[in-house]
Amino acid sequence: MTSAKSVLNPEQRQVALSHLASEKFDVLVIGGGVTGAGVALDAASRGLKVALVEAGDLASGTSSRSSKLIHGGLRYLEQYDFKLVREALQERELMVTTQAPHLVKPVSFLYPLHEKVKERTYVGAGLALYDALRGFQRALPNHRHLSQKRIHEVAPSLRVDLINGGIQYYDAQVDDARHTMMIARTAAQYGAQIATHASVESLIRKNKRVIGARVLDKFSGETIEVSASVTIMAGGVWSDQMHEKFGVIPGYQVRMSKGTHIVVPKSAIRSKSGIILKTAVSVLFIIPWADKWIVGTTDTEFTGDRNQPLATREDVDYILEQANKVLTPKLKPSDVLGVYAGLRPLVSRNANSSTTKLSREHIVDHPETGFVSVAGGKYTTYRVMAEDAVDHAAPDLLRLVQKSGTKELPILGAVGYHALINRASIIAEEMGISREQVIRLLDRYGSEISALAELIAADPSLAKPLADGMPYLRAEIHYAASAEGAMSVGDVISRRTRLAFEMADHGVGVAAEIAKIIGPILGWSASAKKKSIAEYEAQVVIEKESVQSYHEEIAKDSVASA
Ligand SMILES: Cc1cc2nc3c(=O)[nH]c(=O)nc-3n(C[C@H](O)[C@H](O)[C@H](O)COP(=O)(O)OP(=O)(O)OC[C@H]3O[C@@H](n4cnc5c(N)ncnc54)[C@H](O)[C@@H]3O)c2cc1C
Repeated sequence: MTSAKSVLNPEQRQVALSHLASEKFDVLVIGGGVTGAGVALDAASRGLKVALVEAGDLASGTSSRSSKLIHGGLRYLEQYDFKLVREALQERELMVTTQAPHLVKPVSFLYPLHEKVKERTYVGAGLALYDALRGFQRALPNHRHLSQKRIHEVAPSLRVDLINGGIQYYDAQVDDARHTMMIARTAAQYGAQIATHASVESLIRKNKRVIGARVLDKFSGETIEVSASVTIMAGGVWSDQMHEKFGVIPGYQVRMSKGTHIVVPKSAIRSKSGIILKTAVSVLFIIPWADKWIVGTTDTEFTGDRNQPLATREDVDYILEQANKVLTPKLKPSDVLGVYAGLRPLVSRNANSSTTKLSREHIVDHPETGFVSVAGGKYTTYRVMAEDAVDHAAPDLLRLVQKSGTKELPILGAVGYHALINRASIIAEEMGISREQVIRLLDRYGSEISALAELIAADPSLAKPLADGMPYLRAEIHYAASAEGAMSVGDVISRRTRLAFEMADHGVGVAAEIAKIIGPILGWSASAKKKSIAEYEAQVVIEKESVQSYHEEIAKDSVASA
């Protein structure tokens, strides 16, 4: 049974905004990416009165555009950043076991070796250290060495003439946008008031102290004054912009590094495991994603519009070129179903340092009484960042603040997950859907599956797929708007589901059907429905244009292979 408090939808947003306008909060959080959602959860679960405002949709910034790995980061070992690796690995173990076993799943990677002795010794030692650094809580298997014969059995797509062995190790993966939304919903369950499409325009100061912020409700156009003992900004790549706008003199800067991923069908790469490839400047991941692979990423300095990080033809070419160094058959441009790009928020004090060498460690800044900001880090370390930020804010709260309890705190849907998996066949019968569907739903909703079951019981047509051959059920689309805070067709296509990069048409073909399901929940008129569809279509056009020449290449490629 869903906790009513965890539900995010238009009515809840209205209620949240009226609380924001009329009450005093301990903590106002700016930003609904994974860091801000984590701060809201950390503070609310310490018993503080919390509000969170997000300028767009939850996770609409970097937190929906990552490689979706919960990992220590093998590449940081090479930079001797053991503290960061250990911290991240310990977080990984906690997420897989306690916090989010329904969403964070182990995934294996092959590290192919080109050379028999020296490379195996070097990489083997690194992976032994990687396994050791996670401490004694060990949820994932240890690494293991594979012979040349074995690696080609596991990954027939790796070139036999180049790869003569490998090492298999484990990390974890997550649907980042869903995970962030679930953290925000958990914060709401603990009492946080959450309003999306509400952006902070300025800070309110009194007697040299920040006492809140002016928040623009992007739907009504009204500005409300929110009063809070401490405002915590978790603005990712928007941090510099906000510092300037708010008149804050910060102790750090955030540089933006763009990372692009491509998505290809499972059939394009024959492997039973993910693959990690070392490149000249970084690493390239080939990551399993249901019946697809996500391949990336790039790492390039970015100075453009942070609201619109677009992939380019060069980005896609780079990824194909790197992957094709070891793959046979090679990936073709026509294999590419989807492309997405995101911006890493890299904290820096030295404007001249090279993007690739910058540490992913985070910074907590406390430049004014009543104002704290947190940025940098990695998706994996969001909880540690949140805990640090709230600890730094505690002295300004002028009240007793409990220690953070989020290490052992299950996020929404986690409790009872394993028991529900054991009962999958029974639930399938009860819901009138297949066991495979139940398991897929449990891995996206955990115990919140009961809310989907209720929707289906009330309207059995919601048990049907959104479109033929598509795994997503109509109930999931309904639930996205009625409980998960989706406010537009784009929110559903891009972040509640991942149709935007999973479908060759980026989900445009199902946009109208989605609008039909969510329209009544969001109180849309016929023209509001059309507008939301048109907005999403326009976004797709912009993204396609950015890789335009690339699409021309795809067309040529398809003609040639016809
Ligand atoms: C290509 C790529 C791959 C990555 N892969 C991984 C990975 O595999 N594993 C990993 O651990 N990390 C990874 N990362 C890093 C990770 O994704 C980020 O560190 C993390 O998502 C940052 O989250 P955030 O909440 O700090 O920022 P964001 O998610 O960007 O959130 C900031 C939010 O602030 C909001 N905002 C801005 N201005 C305002 C305002 N005025 N009022 C209210 N809200 C505002 C924005 O809308 C935004 O939603 C990757 C990053 C990239 C780019």
